[in-house]
Amino acid sequence: MSKELVFVLEPDVGRVTVEISQTPTSSVDDLAGDLGGRVNLNCAKPAENKRYLPVLQTRSTKSDHPEADDFSIWLYRIYHDSVVDGPGRRSVIQVSGCSIRCIGCHVPQTHQRANGTLTSVHSIVDEIVAQRHILDGVTILGGEPFDQPGPVAELVSRLNRHGLHITIYSGYTVEELIGRKDPNIDFVLTHIDLLIDGPFQLQLGQGAGEYRGSRNQKLIGL
Ligand code: SF4
Repeated sequence: MSKELVFVLEPDVGRVTVEISQTPTSSVDDLAGDLGGRVNLNCAKPAENKRYLPVLQTRSTKSDHPEADDFSIWLYRIYHDSVVDGPGRRSVIQVSGCSIRCIGCHVPQTHQRANGTLTSVHSIVDEIVAQRHILDGVTILGGEPFDQPGPVAELVSRLNRHGLHITIYSGYTVEELIGRKDPNIDFVLTHIDLLIDGPFQLQLGQGAGEYRGSRNQKLIGL
């Protein structure tokens, strides 16, 4: 496993972000000593205690397919300051529920809808907008966002009004999504900036490229 440091310089706000991969703690401490005080940011897998759930509706424990409408979404968590889930510094909305079930999935805890909380779309948007002064964009991932096309379309519509750059990860390919001929999916695909598509394929994990888990996945600017 290679070790690398990536420096992201933001002279307009006087900030240096250092992306660290497989780097010994002593080196990180030395670096912090040279650069000054540090703030730890999230990575692709923030600690579970970073989980944020604005619980506005009662969680159902009886069914994996509870009653929902387009104004509420099954949410696993929200986290902020990710620099690995799309370009720049992003807030991440991680939905719960995935019907695809890729072998080797890194987030099996998101597969069951009932592991998340049915949450109002407006509360999610409020949480994201409150962070927008430090954001380059927002990413919606899962779970599988397109297993909830109506609520995700509502979410995208509201985020759009705030002019945020929107990235979505899906385990479906863009061809499969278009082929479903679902008006909500069509709306989403025409109102986001970047789609990262396709299922995670364990055997194609090496050299996947920026923001992707396996080589079959594509970055599609929309
Ligand atoms: S689509 Fe995503 S969340 Fe679903 S099983 Fe595949 S990698 Fe995991």
